[in-house]
Amino acid sequence: MAASVQEQAGASETGIDACDVVVVGAGFGGLYALHKLRENGLSVRGLEAAPDVGGTWYWNRYPGARCDVPSLFYSYSWSPELRREWRWTNRYAGQDEILRYAQFAADRLDLRRLIQFDTRVVSATFDERSERWIVETDHGGRLTARFVIMATGGLSVPNTPDIPGVADFKGEIFHTARWPQEPVNFEGKRVGVIGTGSSGIQAIPMIAQAAKQLIVFQRTPNFSVPARNRPLTDEDHRSFDEGLEAYLASLEQSDFGRVPPTAFAAEVPPRDVQWKHYEKLWQEGGSGGFLKAFPNILVHPGVNDVAADFVRQKIRETVKDPKTAAALSPEGYPFGVKRLCVDTDYFDTYNRANVELVNLREEPIEWIAAAGVDTAKRSFDLDALVFATGFDAVTGALLAVDIRGRDGATLKDAWSEGPQTYLGLTVAGFPNLFTITGPGSPSVIGNVITNCEYHVDWITECVTHMRRHGLATIEPDEEAQVAWGRHVAEVADRTLFPKANSWYLGVNIPGKPRVFMPYIGEGYRTTCKEIVADNYRGFTFGVSADRERAAAE
Ligand code: NAP
Repeated sequence: MAASVQEQAGASETGIDACDVVVVGAGFGGLYALHKLRENGLSVRGLEAAPDVGGTWYWNRYPGARCDVPSLFYSYSWSPELRREWRWTNRYAGQDEILRYAQFAADRLDLRRLIQFDTRVVSATFDERSERWIVETDHGGRLTARFVIMATGGLSVPNTPDIPGVADFKGEIFHTARWPQEPVNFEGKRVGVIGTGSSGIQAIPMIAQAAKQLIVFQRTPNFSVPARNRPLTDEDHRSFDEGLEAYLASLEQSDFGRVPPTAFAAEVPPRDVQWKHYEKLWQEGGSGGFLKAFPNILVHPGVNDVAADFVRQKIRETVKDPKTAAALSPEGYPFGVKRLCVDTDYFDTYNRANVELVNLREEPIEWIAAAGVDTAKRSFDLDALVFATGFDAVTGALLAVDIRGRDGATLKDAWSEGPQTYLGLTVAGFPNLFTITGPGSPSVIGNVITNCEYHVDWITECVTHMRRHGLATIEPDEEAQVAWGRHVAEVADRTLFPKANSWYLGVNIPGKPRVFMPYIGEGYRTTCKEIVADNYRGFTFGVSADRERAAAE
């Protein structure tokens, strides 16, 4: 039986709670970190702002919230037991089922006793004398730890645009990423939704079914493909089990390889061949097939254009009103380089009599009044307003904590021109601080659960290595970090990703530096492994001050 929070965290000389590792966040990354590090004999403590586990799946409970990665894959890959004991019901799991899975994992692994809920970390300061982090919470709590793991998630700080007048609105206001616990009833109501990213595209068809009237305020149309969600069959489960070994092996080799070595390396198939393939993928549903349809789809403008044309054609075929269809058709940026949305009946929803699309390119929102939204041309009276306006992604939750490393330097200052990390895991000047799915790693691209797992495994191996060799601190060298940052940017620049104003680049947040944050190169895991095998190339380890003193005496 594992020790409780109190048993795990001993009292230090200073009287402050002390443990080996503080894990901030109890989403999938944080839960696995707590489990794995405890298994390896470390005393661990979890701090979580929400009242429960689940991270982004705790908060994003808006109608229609569903994962766009197939549920059989959006699960912990490391545990045969959990796999055996949990059975997904749908091809794409809804938020409630994913949250239940996180709760099940936390209970099954006996993790709750390690976590202090309803507790937000406000600061983490590296004390150079003791070589320990001092972590402070919004309850005034303080604890010290040798290591801090920021498992705070890439999509956890909601972005609410500062639209003038919003405080005057007399109706109800919601944000998809802070949806209330209790059911929201839109029946008989006039509802406005601002935002048409993945969250808006999932919520809009559901709200349209419930509300008397739905007004969608769209600034930028998005590419979206059908989910074709359906219940999983015994055959689906059997075929997943049969392919499991190969799937696990594929994760080990390379988790993400969308970028061929040269932009035009792969051949360009004839347009009709591409079209036919897209038609097949459209009928199958899901985004994964599209993003890998051709090796150069996210690199070669000619190949990418065909995919974009294909989706625009589908929109025209689906949406009856040509003006609405045109407004819903993404133009001017490539296909798939903003997160490709996956929907159920999204475009068809605009054929409903109670739904209207307002194209903010033609009539921007000027004001939110007590009664509703005023655009440059019209006033819309509303009973409720839903912000589906996304997140301060990837760096938002890290910078929300006042993190101070050597010489009192703040992470905020260190990242004032954009995040700098080594492997998306560590930051120069911030010893023993690890970021799970941090900027400069695959992060929010692909399957975030397996991205989290890999980081936890890497950190555990590193911490175990340090304990074995009596090492007190690890931090990346400035040069290694700069070289990695350059590589992350170079890889992105070989693709079409920087050609869209996406949250991957931080452009959705006013004042945020325009830096492509995820690493989209091939063989990330192989690189990380090679660095470890090369005696942690690019890292410097520190021997504990006590040992140094002992050696000198
Ligand atoms: P998002 O993709 O950033 O979309 C935000 C939307 O709000 C955009 O349409 C944006 O328009 C609009 N917006 C922002 N500020 C605005 C303003 N001042 N006035 C008018 N419109 C404004 O956010 P999201 O939809 O929450 O999705 C974020 C990410 O979360 C996704 O890309 C995905 O990775 C993840 N997610 C996944 C799923 C899933 O698994 N299916 C579901 C939901 C979310 P502009 O584009 O013009 O800025």
